[in-house]
Amino acid sequence: MTRRTGIIGFPLGHSISPAFQQAAFDELGLDCSYERWPTPSDELMMRIQGLKSPEILGANVTVPYKQAVIGLVDRVDPVALRIGAINTVVRQEDGTLHGHNTDAEGFMRSLSFDGGFDPAGCSAVILGAGGAARAVAFGLADAGIERITILNRTEEKATKLADAVARATSVRVIGARLGGGSTFERGSPPDLIVQCTSLGMSGGPDEGRAPDISGLISHGTLVCDLVYNPIETPLLRLAAERGARTLGGLGMLVHQGAAAFTLWTGREAPTGVMERAARGALQSSTDWRNTD
Ligand code: NAP
Repeated sequence: MTRRTGIIGFPLGHSISPAFQQAAFDELGLDCSYERWPTPSDELMMRIQGLKSPEILGANVTVPYKQAVIGLVDRVDPVALRIGAINTVVRQEDGTLHGHNTDAEGFMRSLSFDGGFDPAGCSAVILGAGGAARAVAFGLADAGIERITILNRTEEKATKLADAVARATSVRVIGARLGGGSTFERGSPPDLIVQCTSLGMSGGPDEGRAPDISGLISHGTLVCDLVYNPIETPLLRLAAERGARTLGGLGMLVHQGAAAFTLWTGREAPTGVMERAARGALQSSTDWRNTD
């Protein structure tokens, strides 16, 4: 029996997960398919119930359902519960569905393997306060970062996320308005900047734009952009011009997918094969959107 997995979202547009997940199954000779499952909101509950069928291994969940699916599975992993979002569903032997979030793990693996960065004792600035920022903030906090500043266009969301992370961990976290010229923005540069907004995303409303943080970037800073299309975003270009080290979002995408692959199959994911397939899928069209 061919086992099936897929990605649930709406619209699904041009997700590149099918390309690199199928490449991983094929590389390991597993009889599994990875499909696109575009799902309008009135069909979401039925789609999730459908994952209980014996041929299903599980699914990825993407925009706009990462939060909604929390209430639709039988058990939620503590990491996903804390982040408040599920991006991976795993069907258990008994047909029950468990929800996980592999975004934090994906980011932390990429930060370590691709960026060679150890957060212990360091300071970080996170731009944005949405789902991705939440995963990054908790991932960094759990890895022993010393200080986090969260800057977001909507200040209230930045302070809310800062409070949540500070309450749950022992990290010093503050939230402020992105572009507000706060004391922090004029202060000493952080060791790490992680861009978790959709600014700069190809095909999006803010294509070609970078957040206005040039004053924060110094020679010793590692600047990460979670946006992976284009591979070299406007922010990464600016950071490189200022002599900072840079890390794009494709590594995180591959590593979060690799963690999901392992949850479904119990096998180590062939990350090199996945990354090559992901790059190939991005290059084969100029019209991909970040929808994974
Ligand atoms: P989200 O929950 O919708 O949050 C979007 C964030 O972007 C919010 O903080 C929002 O600020 C901010 N934003 C949007 N437009 C802006 C603008 N013009 N100026 C300033 N800030 C703006 O989205 P998400 O799930 O966190 O995803 C954020 C980005 O990360 C997306 O580009 C996504 O593709 C990428 N991502 C990448 C990976 C990966 O594996 N590489 C994984 C997850 C996400 P407000 O609160 O003010 O609206």
